[in-house]
Amino acid sequence: MSDSNIEKSFDLNSAVQHLADSIKIKTISYPDHEKMDFKLFDEFLLFLENTYPNIKKACKKELVNGYCPIYIWESQGNSNKPVLLLGHYDVVPIEKDSEADWEEAPFSGTIKDDHIWGRGSLDDKNQVIAVMEAVEHLISNGFKPERDIYMVFGFDEEIGGMRGAEEAARIFRERNIEFECVIDEGGCIITDMLEGLTVPAAIIGIAEKGSTNIKITVEDKGGHSSMPPGSTAIGTIARIISNVENNPMPARLTMPVKEMLKTMAPYMKEKKFVLKNIDRLFPIISSMLAKSPLTNALIRTTIAFTMNGGGDAPNVLPQKAWTVANLRVLQGDSVDSTLEHIKKVNPGINFQIEKMLAEEPSEISSIDSEPYKILGSIINGIYPEAVIVPYLMIGGTDSRKYLGSCKNIYRFSAVILTKKDNASIHSSNERISIINFSNMICFYIRFLSLN
Ligand SMILES: [Zn+2]
Repeated sequence: MSDSNIEKSFDLNSAVQHLADSIKIKTISYPDHEKMDFKLFDEFLLFLENTYPNIKKACKKELVNGYCPIYIWESQGNSNKPVLLLGHYDVVPIEKDSEADWEEAPFSGTIKDDHIWGRGSLDDKNQVIAVMEAVEHLISNGFKPERDIYMVFGFDEEIGGMRGAEEAARIFRERNIEFECVIDEGGCIITDMLEGLTVPAAIIGIAEKGSTNIKITVEDKGGHSSMPPGSTAIGTIARIISNVENNPMPARLTMPVKEMLKTMAPYMKEKKFVLKNIDRLFPIISSMLAKSPLTNALIRTTIAFTMNGGGDAPNVLPQKAWTVANLRVLQGDSVDSTLEHIKKVNPGINFQIEKMLAEEPSEISSIDSEPYKILGSIINGIYPEAVIVPYLMIGGTDSRKYLGSCKNIYRFSAVILTKKDNASIHSSNERISIINFSNMICFYIRFLSLN
């Protein structure tokens, strides 16, 4: 059977039902592990076992920390490097009091108006189920891969992936496995998300910024508030915050952003010339890019103050005040260089900085590699009108954990997302169109057929 025939014969109705059923299992992850209902995670894993009998028969399965499955579909004695497909089946909770905003209950898995509704339908059970459907279908058609295919599905991606992806990645490094490429969630095909873009763009994440939390603490003598000094510990924290906000980290054009802007240039209504000559013009237009939070995040390390505290009573000077910031570190900077910057813009002020969770920016995957080209041609096979654009992810995925085992890490799901779809992720009325879901399965069938 030719590749395209294999692809046509998969059973979309049953795949749609499987995604709907998977959404009904409330695999919610919470930062506090104690709050997680692991019986439901067991139920989800059992659901995979029962739904995909061919995978159960043909693939090896290991469980990392009890809940992160690694499936290995082995090739027959082939020495090609394996491929790794990622996804995660944990989902974020439904925000308090937001349930009423949902047109269909968030865990109903309702199929209505050519969509599958519910939490996880776009992030990221769609990916897990699409991968499983594709592999199950290929096995049942007697397809034999020419390299080993690995699949890893995280159960704690939404809370950092420390027990799932991080541990699976450690195991792969220990076994000296080097992957030809890794495909994870991240980019998609955008239509109306970038003003002025005249064609759909398939944006493939080739790098991600590092996310780090830090705590800044100021200590003081305290005392009665009737005789205050010029500034209290809280006042000092306020000055530190203000100094940092008024003196952002320097702007820089990194390879993923430069390539993104240049690739998009011919398709931009007005900014064609500027984007095409971005290397030369960057010093002039960087302040313009800094005006939008999105483009600003693409060109510099950002520092967002997210929590603060200090003081116990209205009439007592605080002996301690603190603030927490989330840093998103750009390639070329590091957590330490960002801390140096914070110190530099606060001369003469006494404070301590503590790293709470430190993750450096990822390496950048090549856009000249064979897997990147294959990815582009498969995407264009399904969406001929889409232009393939590399980009820098400002959010994080599980894929960064696998940097030690692979140079070609690409973050992309074969779905068209509008602004509205994108806004539903981690929010209300998350849903995926059946055509999008069908295209995801086609994408994986084509990708695996070429391997
Ligand atoms: Zn996700």
